[in-house]
Amino acid sequence: MSDLAGNVTTKPAVLILLGPPGAGKGTQARKLEDQFGLVQLSTGDMLREAVANGTPAGLAAKSVMEAGGLVSDEIVLAILRDRLSAPDTKAGVILDGFPRTAGQAEALDSLLAYSGQNVTAAIAMEVDDEAMIARVAGRYTCAGCGEGYHDDFKQPAAAGACDKCGGTEFKRRADDNAETARNRLQAYHAQTAPLIAHYKALGKLEAIDAMASIDEVALGLGTIVTRVSSQ
Ligand code: AMP
Repeated sequence: MSDLAGNVTTKPAVLILLGPPGAGKGTQARKLEDQFGLVQLSTGDMLREAVANGTPAGLAAKSVMEAGGLVSDEIVLAILRDRLSAPDTKAGVILDGFPRTAGQAEALDSLLAYSGQNVTAAIAMEVDDEAMIARVAGRYTCAGCGEGYHDDFKQPAAAGACDKCGGTEFKRRADDNAETARNRLQAYHAQTAPLIAHYKALGKLEAIDAMASIDEVALGLGTIVTRVSSQ
């Protein structure tokens, strides 16, 4: 895009990471934050915080999340609307885990239109279902800095101590077990995967092979984000 004087300008990007649980949306969103100065908006994190704080939204969401279902559009939208109104999001955002239904996609367009924005691109992170169950079921994070680990694929170099901050406390999400992961995958295919066709029809779909290593996926995503941000 360029302005009247011919200078190249970029609008704050609104990027959507689409993909099943375990595809690496959170990991990659944090990398894109560092690389592009964008703000990661994870509705899953916002809901977990609401659950931890015992807010009315959190109380309503808790059992649905534990079963691996989708929280109502009404609750999710109220939480996201609040977060999107904060000034730090004006630099551009990466939506991680939102939208997850056609209703949420429609509501997002209305929310953005209100501030003269629209979706820059939706990036589908393509993965293999069975591998996702294995990825999700063994994962845990450092309670101090959030660095991610996995029982089978990535243990800390020194047992019991975080590679990044040295912390010795780790936590697992209540819904990161094989049974709940299957329900989450089912919810993804039934309600979220149709959004891939939706964004394709709008000419906003990008896709990446998310079975590759974290660094390779990050490299590919960086190329996509650079390209779509300057269009
Ligand atoms: P995530 O951290 O994105 O894997 O989300 C964890 C759980 O939070 C999901 O399994 C859902 O129960 C709930 N959740 C997160 N984002 C949404 C959303 N956009 N719509 C409905 N439920 C959501």
